[in-house]
Amino acid sequence: MKDFQYKSLPMNVIFGPGSVQNLSKVIRDLGLKRVLVLSTPLQKDLAQGISEELGELSAGVHAEAEMHVPIESAYRARAVASEVQADGYVAVGGGSTTGLGKALALEFGAPIVAVPTTYAGSEMTPIWGLTADGVKKTGRDPRVLPAAVIYDPELTRSLPVRISVTSGFNAIAHAVEALYAPDGSPIISQMAEEGVRALTSALPGIVSDPHSIEHRSEALYGAWLCGATLGATTMSLHHKLCHTLGGTFNLPHAETHTVILPYSLAYNAGAVPETIAALQRATGAKYPVKYLRELSLELGAPSSLRELGFTDADLELAVELATRNPYANPREVTPTGIRELLTAALNGDSPNF
Ligand code: NAD
Repeated sequence: MKDFQYKSLPMNVIFGPGSVQNLSKVIRDLGLKRVLVLSTPLQKDLAQGISEELGELSAGVHAEAEMHVPIESAYRARAVASEVQADGYVAVGGGSTTGLGKALALEFGAPIVAVPTTYAGSEMTPIWGLTADGVKKTGRDPRVLPAAVIYDPELTRSLPVRISVTSGFNAIAHAVEALYAPDGSPIISQMAEEGVRALTSALPGIVSDPHSIEHRSEALYGAWLCGATLGATTMSLHHKLCHTLGGTFNLPHAETHTVILPYSLAYNAGAVPETIAALQRATGAKYPVKYLRELSLELGAPSSLRELGFTDADLELAVELATRNPYANPREVTPTGIRELLTAALNGDSPNF
């Protein structure tokens, strides 16, 4: 066994169908009196309903969350939060909404209660992101880790199937990189393995029956575990590539993770036998790279970066950006290797290069 250090993040998780009904109690237990409810414009009705349920505990709804938290949207939300004198934030939605909550917590230090409705996992991490002039800056700050998280699978039943699949793969990617992270540990590996098992078994069920509370619960449980592994470890090549592709080429977040995952895992596979063994146990498949690729395609996910808008002309800049600064990865990151990986992903070739 390898030496390890395990430092746990504080976690207050309430899980179960209908558990959003505990929100008022959670807010009171945190000593909060006026929370601002956040959502995207698309989820405004849900946020409004939650705000009404909260009654006098709610300072109102701000339904302007956007992907990657553009700095202007953070400024607007900060002005609203100041104006209504919010002493906390309820983020109802996916990673974009949690991200807006984090922009507020970073500025004012007030706590977030997250009510996740996708599988992205941001609610389990102290990582914030803000995008200015087309560049996404990220950082870690304990103040942005939500003080409580309510996982209510009922709220995920409306998540469109296509987004459910790619969001699920986004979560699986966190667990895969946590399995070989330089700061991994046995407990994180257990969570990662169980998270991959839960999501890979739930996603086919969601595709055939999107409203099944059983499959939705299993997927959200997996998302929690995978998100927790993201919050506890340092990510490597896979997340670096997705960050570059999303940040510089504006590729969609969860879809990009889904396409890249089999390629990044194939790149590292020879150097991480324990990760491969964990994924074999989690999925029951002898060849996890092939399995993840085939599962994503069977479930209707995009098959290539080209489908997402990446082009041959973008390739060299992506290689340059992904290899410019050194970072931890089990296999050496070289321009030749990354060019080969991205070329295969661009064209949707078999990931067994
Ligand atoms: P998202 O939050 O942008 O949601 C995608 C769309 O789905 C939105 O229009 C949203 O309104 C809608 N939606 C969400 N839940 C729904 C539901 N239950 N029913 C119907 N519609 C629903 O997407 P995401 O993938 O969850 O988050 C992506 C963002 O999160 C990116 O900016 C990414 O960088 C960030 N992220 C951050 C971390 C972190 O640790 N900081 C981790 C993961 C993701």
